[in-house]
Amino acid sequence: MHHMPTNTGWIEVICGSMFSGKTEELISRLKRVLYAHRAIQVFKPLTDNRYATCEVVSHSDHRLACRPLASAREILDLLDPETEVVGIDECQFFGADLADVVQALADQGLRVICAGLDLDYKGEPFGPMPRLLAVAEFVTKKHAVCMICGNPAHRSQRLVAGGAQVLIGERESYQARCRGCHSAEAEPLASPKLAAGEK
Ligand code: ADP
Ligand code: MG
Ligand code: ZN
Repeated sequence: MHHMPTNTGWIEVICGSMFSGKTEELISRLKRVLYAHRAIQVFKPLTDNRYATCEVVSHSDHRLACRPLASAREILDLLDPETEVVGIDECQFFGADLADVVQALADQGLRVICAGLDLDYKGEPFGPMPRLLAVAEFVTKKHAVCMICGNPAHRSQRLVAGGAQVLIGERESYQARCRGCHSAEAEPLASPKLAAGEK
């Protein structure tokens, strides 16, 4: 964003598949706010316990301290009067009230930066993300690299059996895939690239 709004709050959403760099982008934007000596608060849902409970961590190991929450509503109670920018990672795991909470923050004059999966492993819109994307002023759709063909990837292929929408996992459980290479059905660990020692 070259021109930031002034004298108003607003909502930014960073969306895309797994491994597309959403968390890296969120951390980078938040660190720039810190360089400008502005106060931030960072949150994520308790559901996401892959690496550290009190940190937002990217696959490339960029980290930022954060507060895990059971529900998005808690942000309104925990908000510090000094805070100018709120960052929220893994937004897809929050409830349907996420967009209302984020709107309330922006209406109070805060900049809110939200990152989350826009699609679940079946390629269907994920939880509160469609509404969040609609109410946001600024949307960035990131792409990973398709692990089968190298195209830009906007979907997450599940590699382990099980039909639940939420299955917390990493490289052993998901792969970034493009439209042509993605299947809504789980594809248990068959990729030749994975077998060849992909980390
Ligand atoms: P997200 O939050 O979108 O899941 P992260 O920001 O945590 O993504 O991680 C992005 C990093 O993941 C990239 O910089 C790269 O190091 C790594 N990565 C692993 N697999 C892929 C892939 N298939 N395409 C792009 N980046 C990948
Ligand atoms: Mg992430
Ligand atoms: Zn592909």
